[in-house]
Amino acid sequence: MAERLTLRTGIGYDSHRFEPGGPLVLGGVEIASDVHLHGHSDGDAIAHAVTDAVLGAAALGDIGGMFPDNDPDNRGRDSIEMLILAVAAVERAGWRVGQLDVVVITETPKIAPHRQSMRERISAAVGCDARDVSIKGKTNEGMGFIGRGEGLACLATAMLYRA
Ligand SMILES: [Zn+2]
Repeated sequence: MAERLTLRTGIGYDSHRFEPGGPLVLGGVEIASDVHLHGHSDGDAIAHAVTDAVLGAAALGDIGGMFPDNDPDNRGRDSIEMLILAVAAVERAGWRVGQLDVVVITETPKIAPHRQSMRERISAAVGCDARDVSIKGKTNEGMGFIGRGEGLACLATAMLYRA
């Protein structure tokens, strides 16, 4: 059945805690900040959510399976590099990334000033046009861990087409 599909979609979710000390890396872009995202890699939640969306669309598992957090090679790793490797696996399976949509849920930083740089970094990593990558910021209206400024979360969808 899957062999007959020409389009597939995937969804990804990620969240990371803020820790003192900048800069903050998000969407492959370094943002001046007094906090950074805590994680085994560089904590880039946009790159991680997009990686999971792309892998999910191809039914190739998830980022934790491809890059285990108990592997010392993944410590402090550049998440854009992990995204590039995930896309390579998806391409070997016969798919290309057509389009992405991302929501970043956070009280700070504001996403809009960095949106275009993020679209360029992410689109270059997945091999599509920057116009086919959407990145939107959204607050959590002060509610919950995001509202208290403890961290941020990202949702991403990916559309793949048969190469
Ligand atoms: Zn992550």
